[in-house]
Amino acid sequence: MSTDWFKDKIWSISVNKEAALRECKRSASSAVVYPKSAQDISELLASNQEAAVAVVCGGHSSSNVAAWAYVEDGGEDNAIILDMKNMASVTVDKEASEITVGGGSNFRQLAEVCKEAGGALPIGTGDTVGVCGFTVNGGLSGYFGKRLGMLGQRVVNMEIVLANGSVKNLTPASKGDDGDLFYACLGAGSAMGVVTSLTFKMDAATSLSTGGSIVVACGNKASTKPFLRRALQYMKESVLSTPSCSMEIVIVSDYTVIINFMFYDTFTEEASSFVQQVRDDAQACNVPIVADDVTSHKTWFDAASSLWDVIAGLKGDPLVRADHCIGTRTLPSDEVLDFVVDTWVGDYLEKALLSLVEIRSLGGAAMEGMKLPSGNANAIFFADTIVCYDGSSVSPQDKSSIMQEVHQVIVDARNQSELMVDFSGTHSQSDDPSELLPCGDEIFGGHDNYLTIKKVKQTFDSTNRFRFHPFVHLL
Ligand SMILES: Cc1cc2nc3c(=O)[nH]c(=O)nc-3n(C[C@H](O)[C@H](O)[C@H](O)COP(=O)(O)OP(=O)(O)OC[C@H]3O[C@@H](n4cnc5c(N)ncnc54)[C@H](O)[C@@H]3O)c2cc1C
Repeated sequence: MSTDWFKDKIWSISVNKEAALRECKRSASSAVVYPKSAQDISELLASNQEAAVAVVCGGHSSSNVAAWAYVEDGGEDNAIILDMKNMASVTVDKEASEITVGGGSNFRQLAEVCKEAGGALPIGTGDTVGVCGFTVNGGLSGYFGKRLGMLGQRVVNMEIVLANGSVKNLTPASKGDDGDLFYACLGAGSAMGVVTSLTFKMDAATSLSTGGSIVVACGNKASTKPFLRRALQYMKESVLSTPSCSMEIVIVSDYTVIINFMFYDTFTEEASSFVQQVRDDAQACNVPIVADDVTSHKTWFDAASSLWDVIAGLKGDPLVRADHCIGTRTLPSDEVLDFVVDTWVGDYLEKALLSLVEIRSLGGAAMEGMKLPSGNANAIFFADTIVCYDGSSVSPQDKSSIMQEVHQVIVDARNQSELMVDFSGTHSQSDDPSELLPCGDEIFGGHDNYLTIKKVKQTFDSTNRFRFHPFVHLL
């Protein structure tokens, strides 16, 4: 019995699965297959009509939704596991400003080719995150979304292998059932088929003027609170309603607060002066600024790759993780900002030492044009918590209290009427207890979207072959 493939493939293990992983169960009948083409997948699916299919791209799902099919013992979940690593390719059509990835590509591969082509895309922060796994679940870009929209909005062609083995090419112009399928795949694609390639329309690298960070070493919770409250007020008043820049506040477990700014080509002020209020707030709260350069990013690629080294340093044996999020559709009220400071940045940070709270300004271009069927597309103010720790250095008691505290935070968040909670296909913990899970209306950004997605699921995968996705039941 071995779980080697699983351990090699995943970035982290869900808090809800760590104990089971230690028992090292391995499904007897699940097989890992490494397809090289859409044709390979098509033949496999057509010749095994009964088997469930789990697609694993970057392996970064916080619930290990697809990769877990390898570990789960017995039951109906035994599945063909498609590890897409041999379908990692990136090609560019410079004339059309289009870039095409294979179904197994990750963000590092995409960003490097995009850089060479002088392009820019609203990618996520992790270099080894799967481009398809991100896009088909409605992934958002905290750094670039306000200017470049969501990556799914830039899809001009999608190749997908369906449950019956047929291969389809879909575009924004696809009509009827195919049009619905294209749309559904930009928020719920992991439940619909195997996406074997995506072509994106690039923007120009010059869409980002500059960006950088202010780092404040608050040191403890008491010192963090007043500064964070002021920083959130600044975000609300100066950034959320300004489409030409974005701001992300990251709080790590030692209460260092990292504030990342991005200034787009539409920004006309002087960047350093624009953020002066943050420096004044730090001074007023008596917390030290330990780094200050909001113009260190000279290119889109500098910004796109700025967290790769930091993320590579997050390691555990295993790295245990749970993701949750809250957000608002309009400017957050003072009550919401207070809630973030007093409750969302919770005591669990002090036990789960690799955790991050990320507070982002979204909206802008992500809310214009085609609105994706994802809760992510509805948020202008977005806060997530990536609860993370090294499984080998946290006691069982602390693990249990971390989970209880985090669950209580989610319950408290649900009591805030203004907040959307765990509405994201990329930042929610889909293997949590059912009473904590979002409903379809929330995670797909509205009731009509949910109905469309259910209809598409019924049309194209009525036997639920693609059941390893981070959503509620769709059939
Ligand atoms: C370090 C880090 C940084 C992140 N940054 C961001 C961010 O900035 N913005 C954001 O929105 N999210 C972010 N995420 C979350 C991430 O985007 C999601 O977890 C995403 O779904 C991961 O995709 P994956 O392919 O890596 O994971 P996997 O676990 O391989 O796949 C996730 C889901 O997508 C499905 N899937 C994967 N590939 C395909 C395919 N080719 N066809 C059909 N279905 C497929 C899988 O079956 C599974 O259901 C981050 C996560 C991490 C760990």
